[in-house]
Amino acid sequence: ATPTAVMVGTGVGASQGVLIKGGQALERAHMVNCIVFDKTGTLTMGKPVVVKTKLLKNMTLGEFYELVAATEVNSEHPLAKAIVNHAKKFRDDEENPAWPQAHDFLSITGNGVKATVKGREVMVGNKNLMSQHGVYIPEDAEEMLAEAEEMAQTGILVSVNRELTGLLAVSDPLKPSARAAISILKSMNIASIMVTGDNWGTANAIAREVGIDSVMAEAKPKQKAEKVKELQASGHVVAMVGDGINDAPALVAADVGIAIGAGTDIAIEAADIVLMKSNLEDVITAIDLSKKTFSRIR
Ligand code: ADP
Ligand code: MG
Repeated sequence: ATPTAVMVGTGVGASQGVLIKGGQALERAHMVNCIVFDKTGTLTMGKPVVVKTKLLKNMTLGEFYELVAATEVNSEHPLAKAIVNHAKKFRDDEENPAWPQAHDFLSITGNGVKATVKGREVMVGNKNLMSQHGVYIPEDAEEMLAEAEEMAQTGILVSVNRELTGLLAVSDPLKPSARAAISILKSMNIASIMVTGDNWGTANAIAREVGIDSVMAEAKPKQKAEKVKELQASGHVVAMVGDGINDAPALVAADVGIAIGAGTDIAIEAADIVLMKSNLEDVITAIDLSKKTFSRIR
């Protein structure tokens, strides 16, 4: 393709909300035969909501959510935002709208958060977080978690002084464009793989909904990038689609890194292509544009 053709290609992309940073990304896009998708905020809306709360100890929802929110208000995670938002509904201390001060806040990447609130140690996170800290999970709680995961929800556990105190179920629905995008890619013989830091149960349920049959769950940022490299080593030309800070290493490793426009600045900077409308079908727009610009057959 001539430099003019590349300019036209990137210009057409921009007019359709597909920002292509440079000719190399445009050139590679049509060679991609394997696409790795992040789950949260990429395939899903990324706006989780708490849909269920189960208290296991004798306290009010107001007391429970005060401890939980005081801890989570210190976290940037989308799950934390959802939980704090939900907690506001149970705030019964009208005199004092701020959450109690948390001390020794600690964010345990990929697992949850921990802090001291009102002299009590509060942890909010997944099963790993609880088992790492010796919190016992009774059978009925395990059942509730499995039930939530079956419905594609993420189960979150809360412990107070190392005793399991409650469970939350959080729902983050699929983007309307997700199913169609995966199905069109399949018809183009492009394989889709989902990688996520979320648990296996929820990940498998979401993958089933969206029509992806290859899943890697409980993945740390480094492992997402390793997955991309592994696919490249087996001869694939790999695109990665993601929105989070935790996707940045994989976006850089991929032959074509594609960021969701509504995603974090770090992901947008790490990517070669940005989907300004956050519409997953624009992955196909980018590939088509690349084909039109670089195919010799006119
Ligand atoms: P993803 O790749 O889906 O964005 P993360 O690696 O950020 O996932 O997080 C993985 C899991 O760790 C979450 O599904 C959740 O169970 C737990 N987790 C992480 N941060 C928090 C938090 N602030 N509050 C509760 N749970 C959390
Ligand atoms: Mg994400």
